[in-house]
Amino acid sequence: MKVVVCIKQTPSTTAVLTVDAGGNVKWDDPGGKPNVLNPWDEYAVEEGIRLKENHGATDVIVLTAGSEESQEALKTSLAMGCTEAILVADDAFTGSDTTGTARILAAAISKVGGVDVAVFGKQAIDGDTGLTPMQVARKLGWTPLTYVSAIKEVDGGKITVERLLDDGKETVTAVLPVVISVVKEINEPRYPSLMGIRKASRAEIPTWGAGDLAVAGGAGAAASKVDWTKIYAIPPRVGNVEMITADTVEEQARILADKLFEEKVI
Ligand SMILES: Cc1cc2nc3c(=O)[nH]c(=O)nc-3n(C[C@H](O)[C@H](O)[C@H](O)COP(=O)(O)OP(=O)(O)OC[C@H]3O[C@@H](n4cnc5c(N)ncnc54)[C@H](O)[C@@H]3O)c2cc1C
Repeated sequence: MKVVVCIKQTPSTTAVLTVDAGGNVKWDDPGGKPNVLNPWDEYAVEEGIRLKENHGATDVIVLTAGSEESQEALKTSLAMGCTEAILVADDAFTGSDTTGTARILAAAISKVGGVDVAVFGKQAIDGDTGLTPMQVARKLGWTPLTYVSAIKEVDGGKITVERLLDDGKETVTAVLPVVISVVKEINEPRYPSLMGIRKASRAEIPTWGAGDLAVAGGAGAAASKVDWTKIYAIPPRVGNVEMITADTVEEQARILADKLFEEKVI
């Protein structure tokens, strides 16, 4: 069984984002690590590795469409235990919307060949659409299994998973190949081992460009149907704090209730 894990490099959760007058987003992290493996993708990488450890997968290939810088996130995934990494990078792909990104990823998964399961995180913490896994499934013509909280069995060309719903869980069996997106309840991601970090730092990661892939329908800014016309930061909320003092707690509560009533909160 061959597994591909799709990951994205994103700004760190503690990075400070600024948008300049031209709508360009920049970020910096006072902690010194501006970019990380998308936190939701840590669960996807872990589950890919567990498919090898528990369900007989032979290859766990981590894949991203991004820039040369994204090698960092690929190396983190290799250090955790993925067996191979592929970077798709080409200036022609800059400005792709989710459809374009999905076309690129579907073409790369097809080029890998013989893939049974493509694993994704449930969303990226920067773009935040959560659309990419479903769109990749559509482009490939594979079954999408979303919000997966457990992989129960992979046997006889079928996969059985548990899906996390608002009001409960459901168990689903689907014929391979499938695209799955996972939620954080699925596992506890491991830390990269020292040995893994050393090995990953020496890894030569192949880069595939537009010339290497048959991207049906096109990608890049010109092929995008969705345009980010304006990006701006929400002004910080300004609030006043008033301390209520009184001789007793009951009196404090009465004053608070009066104030809330005056403000029409209650
Ligand atoms: C410079 C720049 C310009 C952009 N311009 C536009 C634009 O004009 N219009 C527009 O709609 N969007 C634009 N985007 C957003 C970009 O297309 C999205 O980030 C991308 O489509 C993925 O969507 P998402 O981030 O919402 O991921 P989600 O769908 O939330 O992610 C879900 C899962 O898919 C995986 N995934 C997402 N992207 C990738 C990837 N590239 N490689 C591998 N796995 C991936 C995630 O890691 C995660 O596991 C731009 C992004 C950049 C950096």
